[in-house]
Amino acid sequence: MDLHQCDAFVKGVLEGNRRWIAKSMTLVESSLPLHRTMAARMMDGLLPHTGKSVRLGITGVPGVGKSTFVENLGLYLANKGHKVAVLAVDPSSQRSGGSILGDKTRMEQLACHENAFIRPSPSGETLGGVAAKTREMMLVCEAAGFDVVMVETVGVGQSETQVSTMVDFFLALMIAGAGDELQGIKKGILEVADAIAINKADGDNLERASSARQEYEIAMHMVTPESPTWRPPVLTCSSMLEGGTVNVWETVLEHRRKMKETKEFEQRRRAQALDWMWHLLETGLKDRFKENPDVRANMPHISHQVENELMSPTAAAERLLSYV
Ligand code: GDP
Repeated sequence: MDLHQCDAFVKGVLEGNRRWIAKSMTLVESSLPLHRTMAARMMDGLLPHTGKSVRLGITGVPGVGKSTFVENLGLYLANKGHKVAVLAVDPSSQRSGGSILGDKTRMEQLACHENAFIRPSPSGETLGGVAAKTREMMLVCEAAGFDVVMVETVGVGQSETQVSTMVDFFLALMIAGAGDELQGIKKGILEVADAIAINKADGDNLERASSARQEYEIAMHMVTPESPTWRPPVLTCSSMLEGGTVNVWETVLEHRRKMKETKEFEQRRRAQALDWMWHLLETGLKDRFKENPDVRANMPHISHQVENELMSPTAAAERLLSYV
């Protein structure tokens, strides 16, 4: 692969060619310096063709029904003629080497649909982190003509807050649980969610789902909404029933309409682009710092001194920073 190939990548993606889409995602994932340069050039070529999709983030603890939800809503949209891309951010895959979407039995029907494209979580060892890769993949999907991009993330670690900064609408899926409904739910998720949906509202679970909805509504009243025009609603849905997630999609569209009316939509996207640049700058600087030969040569000795209280952390940090 060389730099001249970038045009072929851009052309292939813009044509919606699946082989080129997959190849460009592999390029985005790579941390080889040549590939990074190529990916950056490719992204520049694709950028003018991005921005038109509905970017939907979905979070929730394992077992809440994220994959089933994405399949249900994805099929509904794909059958209506939408082109749906599904990406995943799974920080746990860094450890296990697997991925939440790696399991072939998940989203079986959606994976076979001609209007859908599913890509598992990128490896966590890439430069800039998993979330940054997912962000670039989202743009590849948009340039390839997908008009709905769903980003699924496990409600673990920082991934959900990272994903919330790359989407137009961030959905937190919950289930009615035994005992305290809010137990274990981080307040942080409620603060960044544009809606909460109590999933598995079907069969015997209906009543419990509706009382969980009321409890979350009370909890949401304690959170200051990010937007003056949107108070995040609490919904119920079922991914087991046909059309059981349509109300969530309608809420996404209503939010979009209101945000566009007040220009908050564009503001949010602009802020997200800047935020992304800073994220890349921070990770890039950190990587360069760690690769600096003087830093590498002196780090063991200085670390040892700090551990043994022979040097203060402040002095040590200043010394190390002076090398770059
Ligand atoms: P994830 O780990 O959040 O992706 O959860 P999954 O989508 O794998 O779902 C976990 C389990 O919950 C599976 O056994 C699903 O069949 C079940 N499930 C998912 N959505 C629903 C739903 O709406 N209603 C019911 N009754 N079960 C569901």
